[in-house]
Amino acid sequence: MIRVQGLTKRFGDSLVLDAIDLEIQQGEIIVVIGPSGTGKSTLLRCLNFLERPDAGYLEVGDLRLDTQKVSRREILALRRCTAFVFQNYALFANKTALENIAEGLIVVNRWPRARAHARAREILERIGLADKADAYPASLSGGQQQRVGIGRAMAAQAEVILFDEPTSALDPEWVEEVLGLMKQLAAERQTMLVVSHEMGFARDVADRVIFMEGGRIVEQGPPAQLFSEPRDPRTREFLRKIL
Ligand code: ATP
Ligand code: MG
Repeated sequence: MIRVQGLTKRFGDSLVLDAIDLEIQQGEIIVVIGPSGTGKSTLLRCLNFLERPDAGYLEVGDLRLDTQKVSRREILALRRCTAFVFQNYALFANKTALENIAEGLIVVNRWPRARAHARAREILERIGLADKADAYPASLSGGQQQRVGIGRAMAAQAEVILFDEPTSALDPEWVEEVLGLMKQLAAERQTMLVVSHEMGFARDVADRVIFMEGGRIVEQGPPAQLFSEPRDPRTREFLRKIL
């Protein structure tokens, strides 16, 4: 289970995360929606310490930490149990698909190279890219690159995978194959926290949808309820614009 308490982040004078509380059950699939500039990416980035929170407590698996008193070792431990999938894939351009997937296992988990490569080959099979093991990112389609990005997160066997708008940089023709892989992970009950405006995905796959605005969770619930009977006027207004 993951528990977030009082997670707060400021950039200068602006309060971007306003004491967020959130619990995520093992195997739960959560989709986060909300207007631009509302703190969705910052929430995910704080959970992985890509951004340093200004206050709050995090529990992920066996780890419990006060974000204001963390050691370097705890940050690395937190990163091992929270894998990140970026909008722009963030692959190493000078590494092959296989090496991109294996890299974290070698550097972060300190696996021997041969073992990491063997795991990366298994992952390439699962993401349907076994024949692209030796391809460099530039020679892959956007959809294939993002599948490698997801494969890298799968390799980490993290407690939770954090997806920040994983399909919004893709040409429309590649969106379905990436959502398909995410659905496959969801069916395996990989815990996922997904920032996305793919409402079809949210409707089909999410156990819970969270609507954020102004650094707060305004409303949350099962997609059927949140999409058809939003309670808060801000949720209604947002959904009216995007649905
Ligand atoms: P979008 O839907 O556009 O991706 P978001 O909900 O992900 O928006 P965030 O990226 O979390 O929003 O940004 C929240 C606020 O924090 C915005 O006002 C943004 O300008 C600001 N912000 C984010 N990162 C930084 C940073 N590194 N330095 C200063 N301000 C930042
Ligand atoms: Mg964002």
